[in-house]
This record gives sequence, structure tokens and C-alpha cells, in this order.
Amino acid sequence: MAIERIFRAYLDFMNEKYKHEHLPDKVHVHDLVRCKHKSELEVLFPEGSYKLSPVLFLGEAVDEFVKNLVTNYKEKLFPDLVSTTSEIEKKVNANGVEITIIGRPDIIINDSVIEVKYSRTPEDKPLEHHIAQLKLYMYLTDKRKGILVYFTPHGLREFIFEEEIGEDYVIELINNWKSPRYEWECQYCNYREICPYRIYPAEKKGTGDISEKEEKKEEVKEIEIKNNAK
Ligand code: SF4
Repeated sequence: MAIERIFRAYLDFMNEKYKHEHLPDKVHVHDLVRCKHKSELEVLFPEGSYKLSPVLFLGEAVDEFVKNLVTNYKEKLFPDLVSTTSEIEKKVNANGVEITIIGRPDIIINDSVIEVKYSRTPEDKPLEHHIAQLKLYMYLTDKRKGILVYFTPHGLREFIFEEEIGEDYVIELINNWKSPRYEWECQYCNYREICPYRIYPAEKKGTGDISEKEEKKEEVKEIEIKNNAK
């Protein structure tokens, strides 16, 4: 069936786009802003990296479409466009150890970096891990201005950050990197059944596992954290 071939192509695309080495001295932005152990499990069990989820598919489609629009209408609307594909590296010295931070911002223009997110509902404020991701891109690109753009079926949102992001910010993120970084991550993690660090939501502790109904709700919500995979 056509849909199966499209989904196969989508998974191949995702693997190609997000696969990378996991080395102690090379840290990717999308790993640093989420659970540390998850990136280790992705090396051990790459089969579990991506869920066959239409919602995630839509999120990725929005991301790629926006970047294509920006590139295709560059002359008219984004004459100061620098890149929608650059992978950028910068070294930091964290506690005497040199670590290379690597990231690929969605859109870089002359004076700022733009990160595109897709969500089910408009948020009144940006999510913490999205802010961290944007600030790391600001650090990597040496931009004082960063813009988080949310696309949702019910509205659009834009949040602007203007500040100098120094090495201290990055080192703090490295120093407090843990598994999980946020307790809510475990509920949406593909590896939760086998992970010794899994944190159970308070009301579910001792019940063994979440219900089928909860599983369905999770799949729908998952798009809100899909950008962790970037
Ligand atoms: S279950 Fe939680 S701690 Fe374990 S890998 Fe997933 S997010 Fe991390």
C-alpha cells in the first residue's frame, strides 16, 4: 500500500536526519535537553527510536515544510537567510573536560536563530526544554536573539528571547544532565518498559503499568515532546 511505503520513507528520513554518534565528548543539543539515558538506549536499541505515529509524522512534516517555505521564498521574505541545514559545533570546557556541543538549528538568519515547533494546542508560554534548545542554538550561532515559533491546529505563537548565552549556561546544562531530565519524559518514552531509571507518575506507582486508555492519550500528546528528538 502507498501509505506503508510513505511511512517507510518517513522512518528512513528520520534515521538519516537524526542519527549520530554518542560519544562522551560530543554532545548533541537534542540529547542535552532531554533524558540522558534515553540517548544511550537509542544506541543500544535503535529500533525503538521512533514510534509509528501519524502525529509525529505531522510534526516532522510541519518542520520540514516551514524550512522549505523559508528557503523557497528567501529572495522575497528572508533575504537575510543564512541556512536551514547547517550543523554547528562549539567546544566548551566543562569541569576540565573539553566537550563539543553539536546542533542543527531550524532556521538561521543574520541576526537571530528560529526554532519551529508543532503542538496540539497553543501554549501561553514556551516549554522549558524548547527554551533550552533555542538558547543552545543561540550559543552555537553567536546570536543574541532567538525565536520560538509554535504551529498548532488552533493558532500560532511566537516567543522572542534576547540575551547573550555564554558558556556558563551550557556547562550548567551539562552538569545537571540526568535520567530523566524531566519526570514527565518517562510517560512518553518508548523505552520505559525496560528502563531502570523510569519514574512512575505518583498516582500510578505500584500499579505495574499504565492502562490502554492512557497509552492512547500518550500517543496523541507525544507530538508535544517530539522536538526532543531533534
Ligand atoms: S524511561 Fe525515563 S529515564 Fe528511562 S530512558 Fe525513558 S525517559 Fe529516560
